[in-house]
Amino acid sequence: MWSSIEAKVRRGERLSTAEGVYLFAEAPLLELGALAQELRARKTDPQLVTYVIDTNPNYTNACTVDCHFCAFYRKPGHAEAYTYDVEGVMKMMAAADRLGATTVLLQGGLNPEIPWDFYPTIVREARQRYPHITPHFFSAPEIHQMVEVSGLTIRGVLEALYQAGQRTLPGGGAEILARRVRQRISIKKGGPEAWLDVHREAHRVGMRSTATMMYGHVETDAELVEHLDYVRALQDETHGFTAFVPWSYKRGNTPMESKVKHVAGASRYLRVLAAARLYLDNFDHIQASWFSEGKKTGQIALHFGADDFGGTLYEENVHLATGHVNKTTVAELETLVRESGFTPAQRTTLYEIVRVAPGPEALEHLADDVPLFVEGLRELPAEYPAVLEGEESRAPAANGPRSADGERLITPR
Ligand code: SF4
Repeated sequence: MWSSIEAKVRRGERLSTAEGVYLFAEAPLLELGALAQELRARKTDPQLVTYVIDTNPNYTNACTVDCHFCAFYRKPGHAEAYTYDVEGVMKMMAAADRLGATTVLLQGGLNPEIPWDFYPTIVREARQRYPHITPHFFSAPEIHQMVEVSGLTIRGVLEALYQAGQRTLPGGGAEILARRVRQRISIKKGGPEAWLDVHREAHRVGMRSTATMMYGHVETDAELVEHLDYVRALQDETHGFTAFVPWSYKRGNTPMESKVKHVAGASRYLRVLAAARLYLDNFDHIQASWFSEGKKTGQIALHFGADDFGGTLYEENVHLATGHVNKTTVAELETLVRESGFTPAQRTTLYEIVRVAPGPEALEHLADDVPLFVEGLRELPAEYPAVLEGEESRAPAANGPRSADGERLITPR
C-alpha cells in the first residue's frame, strides 16, 4: 500500500480512510516522514519554520465537566478553585504585553457561576487596552458554557464575541472526535458535533481557528482517522482552520492515569504529525511543538512534515498540573529551529510572518545568547531565566495562574 500512497500524494490525490489507518498502523516511519516533508515543502516555504510569541493563562480552573484526562480543574467551591475578574484578566494581558507576546491564548474551566457579560467584556477590554495582542480566547466547550448562561445560540455567542473584537478561536476541547472515545473520557462535552458545530459557526461569522487532537489514551488508529476525517471535511466546507495541532495525553495526576497503561512517545508523535500532513491535504500548516513532546523531539518533528513550532507559551498551567514542565525563551526557540537546519520566523496568530530571524548560518555567532536547554524539571537550574525579562517575580500559586494576581471574581467557598 505504501507505494500507492506515495504515488497518490505526489499526484495530489486525497487519501482514503483505509490508507489513513495504514499510515498510523503500518507505514514505514522514515519513509512516511520523508513524504510528509516533501509535501510540506510544496505547501509552505521549505526553509522557514514559524513560531508565535504567546502565553496561555487561565481565568478560572473551576469546572463541572470532570474530563477523565484533566488534572487542571477543581470543582466549584474547592479550596484551590479560582476565578479571576475582568481586572485580573487584564493583569494577565499586561504581563503578556511586558513579555512581548502577540497572542494570548486564554482558556478556563466551565464555571456556571461566571455571568455571560464577563466573556465579551474581557475580549473588548483586551482589544482596547492591548490592540497589538490577539485575544485567542475560549475553546469550543467554553462557547457551549456561554450558550448555557446567556440563552443565546452558538452563533449568537460567537457574533457577540466577534463584535467585541475576537477574530480567532483556539482548537482545545477536540481531544479525539469519535463518539466512543468522548463517551469514555469526556462524556459531558457531547459528541464530535459539539466541537465541530462551534468551529463551523466561528468560521461562518468570520473567525479563523485551529484544529487540535489529543491522542495517546483510549483511541484506536481508526478513531484517529475518524478525527482527521471530521476536520478535513469541515475544512472543505469552510476553509476556516489555520493549522492542525496534535499533542499526546499527559497522564500525571489525571483521573484516568491508572487506566492508561502506555505512554505515547516520540515515534508516535512523529508518525501522527507526518500522517496528518499527508491526510489533511487541505491544511497549510501542521504545528510541531517543543513544549508538549520535548525540545529534542520537537526539533526532529520539523523533519516530519511540520512547518510551525508553536508558541513560546510563557505561562501554561494545564500540562503543568500533570507534572509536565517545560520552558523556553525566544532566543532558545530560534536556536532549536536553526539547529534543525531551518530559518526561524516569528508569526502572528493568523500565520502572517512578522520577522524572519537569522538562519542556521548564524548559529555560531548567537550561541552565547542562548541559555541551557532544560526541560521536564520541576526546579529550573539557577542559570536558566525562570523569570524572564519583563516578567514579575513571584512565588507560583498552587495549581494557579502565575502571571496574574488580580481580584478574584468568585471567592472559593
Ligand atoms: S479539560 Fe476543560 S472542560 Fe474538561 S475538566 Fe478540564 S477544565 Fe473542565
